[in-house]
Amino acid sequence: MTQTYEFWFVVGSQHLYGPDVLNEVNIHAKIITDEFNSDKNIPFKVVLKGVATTPDEIKNICIEANSSSKCAGIITWMHTFSPAKMWIGGLSILNKPYLHLNTQFNRDLPFDTIDMNFMNTNQSAHGDREHGFITARMRMKRKIICGYWEDAVFKRRIGVWMRGAVGAITSRHLKVMRLGDNMRYVAVTEGDKIQAEKDLGWSVNTYGVGILANLVDRVTDEEVDKKIEEYRSKYVFRTSNIYSVRYQARLEIALEKMITEGGFNAYTDTFEDLYGLEQLPGLASQNLMAKGIGFGAEGDWKTAALGAVMIAMSSGLEKGLSFIEDYTYHFEKGNEAVLGAHMLEISPAIAQNKAAIEVHPLGIGGKDDPARLVFVGKEGDAILVTIVDMGGRFRMIAHDVHVISPIKKMPNLPVASLMWKPEPDMITGNEAWIYCGGAHHSVISYDLTAENMRDFAEIMGIEFIHINKITTIDDIKNQLAIGDVIWKT
Ligand code: MN
Repeated sequence: MTQTYEFWFVVGSQHLYGPDVLNEVNIHAKIITDEFNSDKNIPFKVVLKGVATTPDEIKNICIEANSSSKCAGIITWMHTFSPAKMWIGGLSILNKPYLHLNTQFNRDLPFDTIDMNFMNTNQSAHGDREHGFITARMRMKRKIICGYWEDAVFKRRIGVWMRGAVGAITSRHLKVMRLGDNMRYVAVTEGDKIQAEKDLGWSVNTYGVGILANLVDRVTDEEVDKKIEEYRSKYVFRTSNIYSVRYQARLEIALEKMITEGGFNAYTDTFEDLYGLEQLPGLASQNLMAKGIGFGAEGDWKTAALGAVMIAMSSGLEKGLSFIEDYTYHFEKGNEAVLGAHMLEISPAIAQNKAAIEVHPLGIGGKDDPARLVFVGKEGDAILVTIVDMGGRFRMIAHDVHVISPIKKMPNLPVASLMWKPEPDMITGNEAWIYCGGAHHSVISYDLTAENMRDFAEIMGIEFIHINKITTIDDIKNQLAIGDVIWKT
């Protein structure tokens, strides 16, 4: 299912300059492309599509980009002056993410030798303004990054945007398998699946839990033995209830078959619809999440899909992400923190140490005791991200948090957990999140930043709110009020 994406670099110019200048422009573009491809801050391959000088060339590149499954976005730069009416035909049909670089081949002015020839070849200062005008005039969704091409910050920002673009491309053909509906009466996990497919590309469809139950029954002992070996290589066994662990192995194998067969990126289940199953998938879902499958509990297809998008965006990064829920608070004055956990399903990708398989009763649901992975989440800066359906539109909220080691040990907690301190402080951060309508479910990522998510949201055209160290409640209320005008449906 993993796709190798690339970005197409198109340098704008025109024939007026003559072949010598165009040749020099092409040489510069090649050097810059090589530099991008040798920098680890640029996570995806950049392919130079040449110097574009006519409306037809530009339009053909856009047509080709639209139909290429590899191309995750177009990056442009106007080395020289490229009259922007030449771009209207192409840009008006382009449906890939768009990055406009404003850079220049030379860092410093050649003070001693500068003449009009040099001036005419190195014109991005005004060439990129001409280009910026037409993209502004066309109200194009695009990112603009200015800087010197060898500068680390400049390249890092390109990398950040690329991850947002790959998230967008992934999102547009994302498939979610729903086993059962939402948890009864719950509001925030509800949503308009047609709007989601239209705005975000998510195809969300239901499959009877009986299909899974039948597959579980058909899993062979040999398949289970193999899965148990996998568990033994990854996790510590802290249970004598091997039956329960083997049952989770069956669940995982059956889920994997459905996911592979249907080409799904994510799935949901619910403890309220386990007819024919002995246990709620716990260890099974945890292990699948760590392998890159998006997951949402209680029928939460939005968080499941978001998880799959963020997994694609995190390509090559290894600090991990997981489905998570704000579970309970520590209100000690000056040392406030949130304890995040779930009934079972937190990904071991974010475990501080090797996760342990344990078997305990499930508080609700009335099924057999499920095997699950128990661990404490690793420390570090992270973001919590959620998507809510505001009726006619989706709102994404990203919150900067710092995951800490638990203030004290919690020996009786039978699930994976992590403790974090939200920005700007727990009181303001929680109030802001709740004003935004942020869900109790979210995806936590240690690799991605709010800038990645903002780029994704801008490409998709959905509302985005970032709660961070400078957030005030007044500011959040203003953003929400303005959002209701901008996004009026
Ligand atoms: Mn939940």
